[in-house]
Amino acid sequence: MYGFEMGPIRPPSEANSILLRVTRNCPWNKCEFCGVYKGEKFSLRSVDEVKRDIDAMKAVGVTSSSAFLQDANSIIMKPEQLAEILVYFREKFPEVERITTYARADTLSRITPENMKMLREAGLDRVHSGYETGSDQILQMIHKGTTRDQQVRGGLKVKEAGMELSMYFMPGVGGKALSEENSRETAGVINEVDPDFVRLRTFVAKPGTPMGEKVRNGSFVPCTDEEKVTEIRRMLEQVEGCTGVLVSDHIVNLLEDVRGSLKTQKEEMIGKIRQFEALEPFERRRYQAARRMGFVRRPSDMDRLPADLSEQISGIVRKFQTSEQWEDFLNYFLEQYI
Ligand code: SF4
Repeated sequence: MYGFEMGPIRPPSEANSILLRVTRNCPWNKCEFCGVYKGEKFSLRSVDEVKRDIDAMKAVGVTSSSAFLQDANSIIMKPEQLAEILVYFREKFPEVERITTYARADTLSRITPENMKMLREAGLDRVHSGYETGSDQILQMIHKGTTRDQQVRGGLKVKEAGMELSMYFMPGVGGKALSEENSRETAGVINEVDPDFVRLRTFVAKPGTPMGEKVRNGSFVPCTDEEKVTEIRRMLEQVEGCTGVLVSDHIVNLLEDVRGSLKTQKEEMIGKIRQFEALEPFERRRYQAARRMGFVRRPSDMDRLPADLSEQISGIVRKFQTSEQWEDFLNYFLEQYI
């Protein structure tokens, strides 16, 4: 319709970026929590085709100070081809200050340091990678197709090439059984790699995905909404000597204000989670309900709710007798957000 292609997703931090599709869909497409590209076939796009898209964008006046290369694992392209695209794009859009992309940890671990540096010099500034967890046991369980070792080697290579690394952590993805493992092993990877950004994506078992089916048939017992927040606290408590930033930039995260420098604000972030954990159970649920319905972002927002809305929320909370019903209620909203 626009004369150039556009893939289905980009990170929230790239909301205002030019979206340049260099490959289509996901070459792995087997992660059990992910339904984004299910049924879609991966394909590479030719350099000429992508250059035509760049020309078409330029012709219709697309502009921004940032750009994001789509889809799920752009660096699977031949490095020389991707570099050629980056250089061409930079020539056509000199106003762009930052170019970023998604990349899988296994691909990052295989690319040579020389090729990574070539991509950096061609204009790639930041890599977003869905690590999800640092636990090999959980990575296997969710069919991520990557290992902790690949995460560490790939992540360090990104940083050594002079790019920023933005990794994603998925609290709750190991379920109740592997909750402590998820915190501990993810903190271990963060400590080894020291990524520039650790972005929180709270796990939600979306219906229609293999993990959604496992929840339905009882073979995977999910963490509660509160337990996922506790995982973030435990992860933070085990992070040592890191200089990056914890980012909460998705509505699936329960406490949006748990974010900040891992170097200087770690205790403050842990304190915010402890404050939530210390709320009376009824108040905790009132906050969860208000957050999941989209009225608040942090517990202190509860004081600003109009009195009638606050009373309605209390009424809703009182209706739930069992914790299963309660979690189902919260998940009903969460599923709309992913
Ligand atoms: S999470 Fe990423 S790598 Fe996994 S299937 Fe989805 S798009 Fe592909």
